Amino acid sequence: MKTIERVRHQMAAHGVPALLLTDITTVQWLTGFTGSSAAVVLTKEGGEFVTDSRYTIQAHEQVKDLPVRTFGSPKKQSDALIESFKALEVGTVAFERSVTFATWEDWREAFSGVDLVPSPEIVKPLRMVKSPEEVAKIRSACELADACLKHVERMLQPGVTEYDIGLDIEFFFRRNSAEVGFSPIVASGPNSARPHATPSERTLQRGDFVTIDLGAKLDGYCSDITRTYVVGKADDRQREVYGQVLKALIESTRALVPGTSGVAVDARAREVLDEKGLAQYFGHGLGHGLGRAVHDLGSLSTRSTDTIEAGQVWTVEPGVYIEDFGGVRIEDDVHVTPNGPEILNSTSKELTEIQ
Ligand code: ZN
Ligand code: ZN
Repeated sequence: MKTIERVRHQMAAHGVPALLLTDITTVQWLTGFTGSSAAVVLTKEGGEFVTDSRYTIQAHEQVKDLPVRTFGSPKKQSDALIESFKALEVGTVAFERSVTFATWEDWREAFSGVDLVPSPEIVKPLRMVKSPEEVAKIRSACELADACLKHVERMLQPGVTEYDIGLDIEFFFRRNSAEVGFSPIVASGPNSARPHATPSERTLQRGDFVTIDLGAKLDGYCSDITRTYVVGKADDRQREVYGQVLKALIESTRALVPGTSGVAVDARAREVLDEKGLAQYFGHGLGHGLGRAVHDLGSLSTRSTDTIEAGQVWTVEPGVYIEDFGGVRIEDDVHVTPNGPEILNSTSKELTEIQ
C-alpha cells in the first residue's frame, strides 16, 4: 500500500477528516520531496502539497501522488494553506503536536472558520516501520559509515588531534557523495567520559580510549555507528569496562524482537552492566529510531512508550562514562525482522588496540 493510503487508513481509524503535516522530515517521508520547507494537507480522498516558489520546479518533479500548490511573496505559507483548505472543503484539521507555539498562534489567526485540533498519533507508528526500500537505503548509509571507520582508524596515533580526525570523517563522507549525518564525535582520554564531546585540539596519547561516533546521510537516510578504540595497549580496567559494554550491546540487541517493549530492551543492557557495578555510569537511553533523521522517532529507554515491531530500525548504544578514567560506547544499527535482529553495519566490535 502506498504511504499516503496508509496514512489515510489511520486517519479513518482515528476519525480524523483532514490532516495538516508541516514537519519537514514527515513531509519528505510521505512525498519523496527533498526540499527544506513544505506542507501537506490530506483529506479522505484528496489533498495538496504546498510549498513556496523556491521549490516550484522541484516539487513538480518529485511529488507524484498529490497536486502541488505553490506560493510566492507577499503570500506566506498560512495564506496558501487557507486557500488549500477552501479548495479541499476542510472544516476541521488536525495538526502535529510538534508545531511551535508561534506557528500555532499564526495559524489560529489566519485559519478563521477552520477548527484546529491536535492530531492523535497517526504518523509516528507508520514512520517507525520502514519499507524494504527504506531499509536498503539505511543499509547503504551503514556501509559508508563502516568504510569511514576503516578509513580513519589509521589516524588514531599519538600526536593526532581529535579535530583533525573529525575533519577527515567529514571529508570522507563528502568525497563519497554523502552528507554528514551529524557532526562526528571524536573523544579521547578524559574527554571520552563525556558522551557528546565535540572534537577538540587535544592530541591522542598512548593509553587513551578514543570514542568515535559517526554517520552518513545517503539518499535521505542516515547511519549512526560508534566504536571505542585504545591507543596502544589496553590495561586491565579498560578491558573489563569494554568487555562489559560489549556484552550489554550483544545481549540487548538479542532482546530486540517483535512484541517486546523499548523499556525491556533498555533494561536488559542495564542488567548486564550492573553485573560489574557499571549501570550507575550509563546515564542515557539505550537507543533511538533511525531513518530519515539520525534521531528518528521512537526510543529504547526507561521512559519509552514504544513496542518493538518487525521493520523498525534502532540504534543500540550502551555506554559507560567514568570521570577521570574515560568512557566506552559501542553502537550498532539494528533492523528488527520477524526472525530476530539484523545488524546493518559490519565493523568489528572486538576491542581494537591501535599499535
Ligand atoms: Zn551515534
Ligand atoms: Zn545514536
